[in-house]
Amino acid sequence: MNYLKLYLNIYNEWYMKPFSANVRFIKSISDIKDKPGPALPEIAFAGRSNVGKSALLNAIFNIKKLAKVSSTPGKTQLINYFQVDDLFYFVDLPGYGFAKVSKSISASWQKMIEDFILKSENLRLVCLLIDSRHDLMKSDEAMADWMNYYQIPYIVILTKCDKLKKTKLSQQVKYFKSKFPDHHIISFSIHINSLKENLIRYFDDLL
Ligand code: GDP
Repeated sequence: MNYLKLYLNIYNEWYMKPFSANVRFIKSISDIKDKPGPALPEIAFAGRSNVGKSALLNAIFNIKKLAKVSSTPGKTQLINYFQVDDLFYFVDLPGYGFAKVSKSISASWQKMIEDFILKSENLRLVCLLIDSRHDLMKSDEAMADWMNYYQIPYIVILTKCDKLKKTKLSQQVKYFKSKFPDHHIISFSIHINSLKENLIRYFDDLL
């Protein structure tokens, strides 16, 4: 499937315009039974609030405000579906690990995420987004342990890599490799074109 290869031309207006017209927000749901049709392969994005999920979706499709970038951590509370042509969905899951919401709210978000991951028959991959600047947080570790237990296919995407100096970034990559020895790790930044291209290539090969 070579559609995503077109993204490699995202810096070229001529290619980008016709392609981006085919990426669209479909709906937000809180219950998996409301998921959109038709059934298509899904790539889901999970991570702590503020890790950069919306920014990543905006960046790889090069469409401003496709996914709303929220400056308020904890605001994304629904499962957002984006469809690319008639080919697949990117699914933005609620952010977790935000301290300032009540336990019952964060438990309901967690249940939404778990229900989606366990019940979605078309889920091909979960991208677990982790802020490259910090050590592994308990909530990320819990999410990873949970996915390991259910043998959910996932990769780790380290976000905001532009915020680290080169040596620190390679230390962090090493550190995360030691934490996730059996999973693919991809560095990402919305500000570094080569990293955007790497991620796009990865999705392209997957689909
Ligand atoms: P979400 O809650 O996971 O959807 O996080 P957002 O996408 O709303 O991003 C949270 C904040 O981090 C916003 O202010 C973004 O502009 C910023 N951000 C996201 N990705 C990057 C990145 O790669 N580099 C930098 N410097 N900032 C980023």
